This record gives sequence, C-alpha cells and structure tokens, in this order.
Amino acid sequence: MSAILKKANVVVIGGGIFGCSIAYYYTRNHPGKKVIVIERNEICNAATSRAAALMTIVRSKHSYIPLALETYQAVMQMEKQLEESLDMRKVGMMHVAASDGSVKELEQLMHTAQQFHQPYDYLSHEAAQRLCPWLKADEALRIGFMPGEAYCDPYLLGTFFARCAKQQGADIMQGCAVTEILYAAGAVQGVKTSLGTIEADVVIDAAGAWAPIWAKQTGTGIPMAPVRSQYWITDKADIFPADGPMVLLPDAQAYARPEGGALLFGVREQKSLYASPDKIPDDISHFVFSEDKGMNDLAENAERLARFFPAFYETGIKYYIAGFSGYTPDGQLVMGKVPGVDNFLLASGCCGAGIAVSGGVGLALAELAAGNEPVFDLSEFNVARFGKIDPFSTSWLEKCAMARSMKRSG
Ligand SMILES: Cc1cc2nc3c(=O)[nH]c(=O)nc-3n(C[C@H](O)[C@H](O)[C@H](O)COP(=O)(O)OP(=O)(O)OC[C@H]3O[C@@H](n4cnc5c(N)ncnc54)[C@H](O)[C@@H]3O)c2cc1C
Repeated sequence: MSAILKKANVVVIGGGIFGCSIAYYYTRNHPGKKVIVIERNEICNAATSRAAALMTIVRSKHSYIPLALETYQAVMQMEKQLEESLDMRKVGMMHVAASDGSVKELEQLMHTAQQFHQPYDYLSHEAAQRLCPWLKADEALRIGFMPGEAYCDPYLLGTFFARCAKQQGADIMQGCAVTEILYAAGAVQGVKTSLGTIEADVVIDAAGAWAPIWAKQTGTGIPMAPVRSQYWITDKADIFPADGPMVLLPDAQAYARPEGGALLFGVREQKSLYASPDKIPDDISHFVFSEDKGMNDLAENAERLARFFPAFYETGIKYYIAGFSGYTPDGQLVMGKVPGVDNFLLASGCCGAGIAVSGGVGLALAELAAGNEPVFDLSEFNVARFGKIDPFSTSWLEKCAMARSMKRSG
C-alpha cells in the first residue's frame, strides 16, 4: 500500500451535487468528524451543472417527496449561513393534461399534493394562457397548478452545499482522482487516489455516471445506467415571460421552464442514448453527445410538441445542453448500504431528479455514514432490489434507457 496521505471518518467519491450535499449534512450534524470529498475535475462540473434543475416536489413517486422537501429546507438554511440568496425561482408547475389517462394522473397528483400539504389548484384555460402565452392551453382537458414548485441554478446549489460543508470543516479535494477502492475480507477500508492513499471508516460512492466502475471492485453491480438527457433553449421572445411557470406536458412527454426571457424545453426521445460507464471519458466537458445537437430527436417529437407550442416551428434554438443521468428500470434511486460489503454506501441512480432530491440524499447518506438509522424510508431505493445484475451489459443498459424513454413527468 502507498503512503497514507490522510485519514477520515468518511470519504466520498465524486464532488457532484450528491457528494457535496453528503459533506454538508455530515459536517453539519456531526461536528468534529472528518469527511473528505474527492473530485477528479472541478466540483459540480459533470451532470450537476447541466441540469434543467426543476426541483419538483409533487410527483407520482412518493418516495422522492420527503427528499425533495429536505432540499428546500437546506436551501433556506444555507442562504442564512452564507448570507446570500440562491435566487431559487418559485414560479410554480403547471400540469397540462390532454388525454383521459393524463387527467387521471393529474387527479392522483392533486391528491398527492394534498397528502403532503403542498399547495395545488386547477386553472382555467384563460388563466393558463395568461401565465403562459406560448402554450396552446385549449389542447388541455384539465390544467393543474402547484404554486410551491421552483427551479434553480444547479451549479450554484451544488456549490452552496460545498461552501457550507467547507465552512463546517469538510475537506473537498479537487483535481484528485480515486483510482481504487481498498477492499479486503468483505470490508472497504479507504481509497487509493492519484495523490496517495486515504483511509476511512466509510466510503460513499457518489461518482455519478462512473459510480459502477468503482463499486465493481467490491463485487457490487449498481443497478443503474448512464442515459443521456438533453434539452434546448430558444431565442428570447415576448411569448416567454421570464417569471412564467414551469410546464409539464405528459401527452408530449415534454417539459419546459422559463430561462431569462427564452424557453428551456426537453422531450423524451423514443430511443434514449446510453453509454456503458467504462466508455465515458473522465472529463465530459468536451464530450459530443449528439453531432446534430439533438435535432433528429427534436424532429421526431416536433408534431407532439407543436400541438402545445404552436410557435415551435418559427422559434429559433440558441443552445443545446446534454449530459448523463443514472437511470434505473423502476425510476427509483439506488441509495444506501451495499449488502455484503461493510463500510460501503451508494448515492446513485438519480433518474434525472438529482437536483430536486439532493438535500434528502445528502441527509440520508450522512446519517447512514454516521451509523444512525435511516432518516427516510429508503426501502424503494434498495441497492439489491434487482438481484445480481451486470451494469456494463448491453441488455441492462437498454433496459434502463427504455425507462427514460417512457418518462412522462419532469
Ligand atoms: C440534461 C440534464 C437535465 C437534468 N435536469 C434535471 C432536472 O430538471 N431536475 C433534477 O432534479 N435533475 C436533473 N438532472 C439530473 C441531475 O443533474 C443529476 O441527478 C445530478 O446532477 C446527479 O449528481 P451526482 O452528484 O450524482 O453526479 P455528477 O454531478 O455527475 O457528479 C459525479 C462526480 O463524480 C466525479 N468522479 C467520478 N469518478 C471519480 C473518481 N474516480 N475520482 C474522483 N471523482 C470522480 C465526476 O468527475 C463528477 O464530478 C438533469 C441532468 C441532465 C444531464
């Protein structure tokens, strides 16, 4: 073994929003204990900085809701701590139901909002049209509105977690790569890095799209796959008010939100692009996700989108953003203890919701790492729920990509 560089109670692999949030909660709730976050590039530079950052609370998957609520709590606390605003945009979420199936889903969602004490209402077509001039509200059978929903700058949120964590004593090492997990006799003991060995009582794999590479060294197959998410940002136009609501269009499998006088929107393509974790470069800053900037996928969905956004064909596209999120076949996270491997935890499989649930993920993992009982019900996120799988096999990757293609929510 190389010389011991450092020792810590907890080492986190990956300085994305999950890693930074874990460090925030661990140092906040366990002062005096040491956590080191290891990031081989710069923090929040991979999936985190690319997110559309809808921080949806009210979802059909109830398991996510307490985690998302925790994120909103964390934002309030960190704004106080840093004496700075995150400038979170609480513009609300409009749910546009244009088929009988979507109306049923919307009714269920309204019930969910009530259950979780979140504000909700139905909007008239006229009211929806006023809030959202770009939307053809007449297409809807019913329109729901959740005024408590927000979006944010995901990079800023990630760095808020990191800055507060540092103030509280976390060590965040950038430009340092984990090269190996130290694993013997069924237990993890630390990590080898490009700068030396770090011993730790607990290691948490929060390495985003690359997480399965490191977990494999312990014989663990993380049940998720890196699948491309992509969205576009239009030119600015008067029909896109900067303070308009976010909009979910389940019948077009699309979502949209304002972006400073333009419209940011995403659609789910029929065949989502995936990659094996070991084929993704260490630094994705210059990775080409789509030679045509997703234009083929946009063309495939144009008709469905133009039904709700009639100015779509005349509107110029200014930016294209893409990145990898970890998807699972059941749309649930992969989070918690790894059965059969001591001292090893996972924060993975974000299913395109990692910004929204970052607070809850951080709190849950920090408490597990401290040896405490889970703060939330983590049963749906169980690491072993699919049995033994090979996260590098084509059949598995395709199964996870299909889950994204079917997604109808934000
Ligand atoms: C286009 C797009 C749109 C999205 N929209 C939304 C949205 O609207 N709402 C929402 O909630 N979520 C959204 N997401 C999902 C969200 O971005 C992710 O869930 C979240 O960023 C995951 O964070 P993470 O920390 O797991 O991963 P990442 O941010 O990818 O961080 C993982 C880090 O691990 C580091 N790492 C890996 N291996 C090593 C190693 N060996 N040593 C050191 N460091 C290592 C990487 O460099 C990386 O920085 C979107 C994602 C994309 C791509």
